[in-house]
Amino acid sequence: MEKIPTGFDVLHNPKLNKGSAFTEAERNQYGLKGLLPAGSVSQQIQIQRVLENIHRKAYDIERYIFLFALQGRNERLFYRLLIDHIDELMPIIYTPTVGQACQQFAHIFREPRGFYITPDDRGHIHDILSNWPEKDVRMIVITDGQRILGLGDLGANGMGIPIGKLVLYTTGAGIHPDQCLPVMLDVGTSNQTLRDDPLYLGVKQDRLTGAAYNELIEEFVTTVQNLFPKALIQFEDFLTPNAYSLLNTYRKRVLCFNDDIQGTAAMVLAGIYSAIRITGERFSDLRILFLGAGSAATGMADLIKSALCNTGINTDDASQRLWLVDHKGLIVKSRTDLSDHKRHYAQEHGEMSFTETIRSFKPHILIGATGVKDTFTEEAIRAMSEIQKHPVIFALSNPSSHSECTAQQAYEWTDGRAIFASGSPSEAVNYKNQIFHPGQGNNAYVFPGVGLGAISCEASLITDEMFLAASAALAEMVTREDLNKGTIFPPLKNIRGISLKIACAVANNAYENNIAKTPRPENLEQAIRELMYDPTY
Ligand code: NAD
Repeated sequence: MEKIPTGFDVLHNPKLNKGSAFTEAERNQYGLKGLLPAGSVSQQIQIQRVLENIHRKAYDIERYIFLFALQGRNERLFYRLLIDHIDELMPIIYTPTVGQACQQFAHIFREPRGFYITPDDRGHIHDILSNWPEKDVRMIVITDGQRILGLGDLGANGMGIPIGKLVLYTTGAGIHPDQCLPVMLDVGTSNQTLRDDPLYLGVKQDRLTGAAYNELIEEFVTTVQNLFPKALIQFEDFLTPNAYSLLNTYRKRVLCFNDDIQGTAAMVLAGIYSAIRITGERFSDLRILFLGAGSAATGMADLIKSALCNTGINTDDASQRLWLVDHKGLIVKSRTDLSDHKRHYAQEHGEMSFTETIRSFKPHILIGATGVKDTFTEEAIRAMSEIQKHPVIFALSNPSSHSECTAQQAYEWTDGRAIFASGSPSEAVNYKNQIFHPGQGNNAYVFPGVGLGAISCEASLITDEMFLAASAALAEMVTREDLNKGTIFPPLKNIRGISLKIACAVANNAYENNIAKTPRPENLEQAIRELMYDPTY
């Protein structure tokens, strides 16, 4: 018979520990008498104490360290706190603070979290992955750290991203923490500063590339399918060519998706659906300009193109409504440097600068995904505002320090007429005595619900149609009141309700397309809601 833990084994186990909230009866039952102060308090009082500690700290990075230490002590308190205070705490556990946490990962490292694979593990991944203590893994987020947010190659420091994303899967969609597995594929780094840092904890060699890299990933994916056959793999923050190559290799074979490409796209499409409720444009009439033509931008263009085609427009016409500009200028047919994901959008046009493109193409919507600060210049935003009554401007690059422009600039340069969203949260802006509440255009609105929906019905694949369904579900959650405040996304504090709706839309789509392995429940929403982890005690 399994021994029931008692005493310090309970207090030092974050899954069992309730700290000062253990009741008198529990203290007797688990041999905790004398090991805790006499006062027994509720979980809500504990949250009050935790918040006091958080507010006392001077820097967000200190708050980040404190929060993850709490996760290591009392997992249920950590999640109850995050669910109840997601608005305040998401910028700490996720962007922008997670960017700084990744940059300083080796310097703030306390206890290991997640799973690490290195080139030396080739041929042994099954053995080492069997070391993972949980056996019913459903949600995996894996990165190789080469394109962390807009911060570049952070090597093994990038582990902060899978950890943060999975915390959001649990907080936002109720995926049980035991079912979540963050993975760092540590194949080296070309970041010399990291390699020279004596505290750096990753593999200090050049990045593995080519066939050896692909074989390592193939071994990982195959092992996951053996050990955790119900798991969904989310590829995260890979360099664009690898991101596309992995997605194209596995999307038809394995339950997987790439959040930068697909999740971001679904969030943006939902934002567009909401924005046109303000501007009054017809979706099928829209012209959209992207600054940046990496995985995020072309992923958005691909999904928007599918949505345009669903309105009856043919693919060529749809592509002509979606123009992209990268660091070399407009994506045009005469360019010889275009990779596949950009070539679909090459226009029959001469080369032009960004602002010239705005004046010539007259976009309704401008979307930034460059990873480069200040690339939405005053001249460009003013040009947008001359062309459109309500220019829609999304500055999506993360973290905030890499945003294409600030909310303040967007409102000022358009005389308060912009419909604006940014990748990381923006403060409310007071412009000429009008208060604007810009929305946060972040894929965090989408991926938790997509994950929950897919694993709830044990979908065999994640399809583009599921992301279209997720977009529509997210857009439906935006109220007239949100739009009146200048926000084109629903309040984040409703993230669990949003994720549930998205999960239903995704699972529904899987059932309709016969790619769900579980029988369809009579009441889908109720069945999915019952799966959601509740950390209350
Ligand atoms: P990427 O490196 O693949 O693409 C960057 C693109 O920007 C490239 O096409 C590059 O040519 C272009 N670019 C760089 N400097 C430019 C300049 N000065 N002018 C015009 N174009 C320029 O990166 P990615 O994966 O596409 O991600 C880009 C950014 O999007 C990152 O900062 C990332 O944080 C952000 N992002 C945000 C979300 C979100 O939910 N808000 C999701 C995914 C990615």
